[in-house]
Amino acid sequence: MAEIAFIGLGNMGSGMAANLVKAGHAVRAFDLNADAVAALAAKGARATADVAGAVSGADVVVTMLPAGPHVKSVYLGADGILAQVGENCVLIDCSTIDVATAREVAAAAAEGGVAFVDAPVSGGVAAAEAGTLTFMVGGPDSAFECAEAILQKMGKAVIHAGDAGAGQAAKICNNMLLGIHMIGTCEALNLAKKLGLDPQRFFDIASKASGQNWSLTSYCPAPGPVPSAPSNRDYQPGFAAPMMLKDLNLAIDAADSVDAKTLLGREAQSVYQSFVNEGGAELDFSGVIKWLAGELDDARSG
Ligand code: NAD
Repeated sequence: MAEIAFIGLGNMGSGMAANLVKAGHAVRAFDLNADAVAALAAKGARATADVAGAVSGADVVVTMLPAGPHVKSVYLGADGILAQVGENCVLIDCSTIDVATAREVAAAAAEGGVAFVDAPVSGGVAAAEAGTLTFMVGGPDSAFECAEAILQKMGKAVIHAGDAGAGQAAKICNNMLLGIHMIGTCEALNLAKKLGLDPQRFFDIASKASGQNWSLTSYCPAPGPVPSAPSNRDYQPGFAAPMMLKDLNLAIDAADSVDAKTLLGREAQSVYQSFVNEGGAELDFSGVIKWLAGELDDARSG
């Protein structure tokens, strides 16, 4: 069984690392937050005090960090991962970050002869805990083959998107589409209500008609039709609105870098920026329906 270093034990990483422990791997845990390390150690991982302690001698390194600058410093810093690992180690970054940083880290790893993949995930905290994430993976075939078996222990689908950075590209395109259809779904539900339609009745119709989409049928932003949706628990995340804004910012930056027209993506970015600025920062991204309806205070007071 591969010995795995896991760095970044936050909302997502803690569940993912626990699944690797459950699968029988020796897991060395590191996070800047000592409580997060202790919590994973209580589940059978070995606590380590820094990046070097976690990764030296490991067969696999998995990182789940907030954003590009964290990934850059953890991989490329003087005491970072690339300064510690040997050539037979595979490096897997599951964070959602910008394509350019993912490619920079991949190039540095390739220079040192180390296999690296960017492998961001779709699915939230519940999927991380249940081991049902979807991984979209960027990197050469040989690195994908090394990473695949490990990722399968944390997910239900592992898909090779293409070369270095392709996993991040797939992730931000997917989430730009998600942001757009969530806002569209909220607009339709809000308009339907104002036109006198019962939300459940409209849901029953649209979910069997051409308006059907994931935001409506799996994550309905109006309370009632989908019991597991955050709309039924005062829009507690779930997938927090600032996370969606982060992904839309990454998508628009990437679009600008390749001169791609993203009219609705830009509009979605502006809507989520307003939602976050005007009180939605603690809410799930589906709470944007409250912002549209001018009812944000009701959602915040629960
Ligand atoms: P989080 O903030 O809960 O966890 C990040 C962890 O990284 C924290 O525990 C933090 O202490 C640790 N960390 C930061 N810098 C570090 C360093 N230098 N060394 C060691 N540890 C360090 O974030 P999260 O919700 O777990 O998300 C992680 C990534 O997954 C993000 O890129 C996010 O966009 C992506 N993601 C999140 C979700 C979700 O629903 N939360 C879903 C899909 C993807």
